Amino acid sequence: MAGDSVADFVVPIAYKINQHSHNLWSYKADPPVVQAQVSLSALLRVFLRTHYQCLRAAAGGRFTTWALVPSTKGRRGAHPIESLWNGGGLSRVPATVNPRHDPSSRDFHADWFRVDSPLSGHRTLIIDDTWTTGSRAQSLAYAIKQAGAASVVTVVLGRHLNPETRNNEDIINRLRAQRQFRIERCVLDETSSGPSRSP
Ligand SMILES: [Zn+2]
Repeated sequence: MAGDSVADFVVPIAYKINQHSHNLWSYKADPPVVQAQVSLSALLRVFLRTHYQCLRAAAGGRFTTWALVPSTKGRRGAHPIESLWNGGGLSRVPATVNPRHDPSSRDFHADWFRVDSPLSGHRTLIIDDTWTTGSRAQSLAYAIKQAGAASVVTVVLGRHLNPETRNNEDIINRLRAQRQFRIERCVLDETSSGPSRSP
């Protein structure tokens, strides 16, 4: 991949299973399911508020900009994540898609997104809904770093685990049995060895 030039930290709020998984596709269905939007919006806002200090420490200071992964499939209109959170007063980094790449590619592409505005010294918060391979979010983080950003922290609402991948089945079964989600926990402050860096 692209070493230090992708997100400094990736912070999944939860795994994408059960009702949460349903919400993550239905909130942007056509028409969107309003109940899913309300649930995800509350989850995202409360998480950001509860963990603002962790996120800010990971970024090395307060955020100055935020960004959303542009649709690679030509979806028009407002970005679905805007129905959940409006950036809390941060200015949004404009990014465009390079149509040369397969819209459903699962690979990192250094030139998948284009960020023209200079971001020298900026600390950018990327919000995305689902993390599967991270190809899109990391390609966007790369473009933002190339534009000069000092740090990028990515928060994702749901970490998707492919059940066909080795070891994931066990994790999924354990998560299904757990039934308890605690918003006061995050990957940045729960590990004794300090924050987990993105790969
Ligand atoms: Zn935290």
